[in-house]
Amino acid sequence: MKALQYREIGAPPEVVMVPDPQPGPGQVLLKVTAAGVCHSDIAVMSWPAEGFPYALPLTLGHEGVGTVAALGTGVTGLAEGDAVAVYGPWGCGTCAKCAEGKENYCLRADELGIRPPGLGAPGAMAEYLLVDDPRHLTPIDGLDPVATVPLTDAGLTPYHAIKRSLPKLLPGSTAVVIGAGGLGHVAVQLLRGMTAARVIALDVSEDKLALARAVGAHDTVLSDARAAATVRELTGGIGAQAVFDFVGAEPTVKTAAAVAAVEADVSIVGIGGAALPVGFGHLPFEVSVSAPYWGSRGEFIEVLNLARAGVVAVHTETFSLDEAPLAYERLHAGKINGRAVILPNG
Ligand code: NAD
Ligand code: ZN
Ligand code: ZN
Repeated sequence: MKALQYREIGAPPEVVMVPDPQPGPGQVLLKVTAAGVCHSDIAVMSWPAEGFPYALPLTLGHEGVGTVAALGTGVTGLAEGDAVAVYGPWGCGTCAKCAEGKENYCLRADELGIRPPGLGAPGAMAEYLLVDDPRHLTPIDGLDPVATVPLTDAGLTPYHAIKRSLPKLLPGSTAVVIGAGGLGHVAVQLLRGMTAARVIALDVSEDKLALARAVGAHDTVLSDARAAATVRELTGGIGAQAVFDFVGAEPTVKTAAAVAAVEADVSIVGIGGAALPVGFGHLPFEVSVSAPYWGSRGEFIEVLNLARAGVVAVHTETFSLDEAPLAYERLHAGKINGRAVILPNG
């Protein structure tokens, strides 16, 4: 089958032929309908050889939707042809965190060598995807596969971060979204659908700010050195009760700190690598800073239910598998509005 692989450190990903996977006991083989393009893959492909965590070649794609093509022995509860979305942060299934559905925080994944598809295990940017366990699949039940596939990460990750901060997002509060890209433009919609907070989106691109307004941001602010002062003005000097940074670079974590209100939550979701000092006098009183990762299985089902309720509609741009390297180039250049989605069998 055809697959998009990252093969050599620093080289662009390539479409190559690889052997068709066969489902072993307990596994499920999907024919991939849609696979989302995440900025994290670009980060992975920029990491140096020293300390690179995954074996190469690596088939990319940690957002996947497909139809069941074959079941390994012992798999029940699914039938050939079922349309399903893949929960990506695979864990061991039995540790204390996995027992809560928080496989994203599995206590044993590293030790057992369990990796998400596309981030260690072969990913969804291929004609077929091997899924390690049926518990990582949720029926999409009539949802559109292209619009749904980004929800597996670009939806689930902001949903998890926002859900933590719901008690602070009371009517009259403000939420700031920094970076209105794949994750950020979904975050704006989730905040509008789940809270009565005023939503202010920041980005460096006017196109992304226009998208943020189109999906419900009350205000948009160009992300520059003056952005924090503008947000302060918009909030009558108080600042935001929750800040979601989908960039995580030096200037954005500074902005995040500078717009935080007393007792605010600051979630650094972007993997730009910047640190935000926490300590008395560094931030307004009792600000909580965290760096969340993906979301739980239960939250994944909740996100799909929000899509069914019409709360979130991802803006997508589709590409064939042969065009997948181009999709990454365009994302890298900041030219994707919303989420790029690959159609491996399209
Ligand atoms: P994306 O490229 O679609 O969106 C990033 C957006 O940030 C773009 O709109 C870009 O214009 C904007 N931006 C860049 N610099 C900015 C700045 N200085 N100020 C404001 N906006 C700026 O990327 P994505 O796929 O949405 O991913 C966003 C980030 O989240 C990436 O760092 C990705 O690796 C990370 N991520 C983290 C998790 C997690 O679990 N923590 C999960 C998925 C993605
Ligand atoms: Zn991702
Ligand atoms: Zn576990």
